Amino acid sequence: MPEIVFDKVRKSFGAVEVLPPLDLELNDSEFTVLVGPSGCGKSTTLRILAGLETLSGGEIYFDGRPIGGLEPKERDIAMVFQDYALYPHMNIARNMSFALRLAGVSKSEIEEKVTRVAKLLNIDHLLDRKPAELSGGQRQRVAMGRAMVRDAGTFLFDEPLSNLDAKLRAKMRTELAEMRDTIDKNMVYVTHDQVEAMTLGDRIVVMSDGKIQQQGSPEELFKRPVNRFVAGFIGSPT
Ligand code: ADP
Ligand code: MG
Repeated sequence: MPEIVFDKVRKSFGAVEVLPPLDLELNDSEFTVLVGPSGCGKSTTLRILAGLETLSGGEIYFDGRPIGGLEPKERDIAMVFQDYALYPHMNIARNMSFALRLAGVSKSEIEEKVTRVAKLLNIDHLLDRKPAELSGGQRQRVAMGRAMVRDAGTFLFDEPLSNLDAKLRAKMRTELAEMRDTIDKNMVYVTHDQVEAMTLGDRIVVMSDGKIQQQGSPEELFKRPVNRFVAGFIGSPT
């Protein structure tokens, strides 16, 4: 059974329908990439899943339980936002541990978690520094680390590399692929970048106008696109 099921989920903002009934299944331990052009409803889909937007219709199920009415903190989800903001006055260790400290996690447990995640993301040598002393790529890793220290079952990434320059993006892509293979979590990754999607996705879901055009492995989408949109989108250079 898939871990997360969107059952005819609808979302409108006023008269504008962003998601017509959307059916989507997300499997446990799979790295799913939602890819599609800007404005097609990717962020809305993640925000609905995280509980940051209400549903206009339909239901979302977690392991068979409806979660549409649950508050964000009642869902087992951590999210990395596109325009992450680190706390400028706190060092990196404190930025990463902020949510844990609020939740009353013990000092020794916080230290263990921050050290482990910082090693994984290769930012363990930066823990004493302030955000302004870090490069863009390092700050992006801290933003990811801040989500990953939380013991959530599901991690949502909303275009985490979009603020980086092309060279750094390519480097981070490789590092994310390594991370994906090391961490056994349910991950949903949103991007408008087809190279990122093809590099990272175990399964890729191609969206346009709130509708799923095709889903499958990178190879399936590349070899057997179901329509011109998918062929053009997956095949075009960035
Ligand atoms: P994507 O992440 O794929 O670029 P979004 O999910 O952010 O797309 O947005 C999909 C559509 O919904 C866009 O047309 C956007 O303008 C609209 N939209 C998103 N959030 C809101 C909101 N809070 N109020 C009104 N319209 C919104
Ligand atoms: Mg978006």
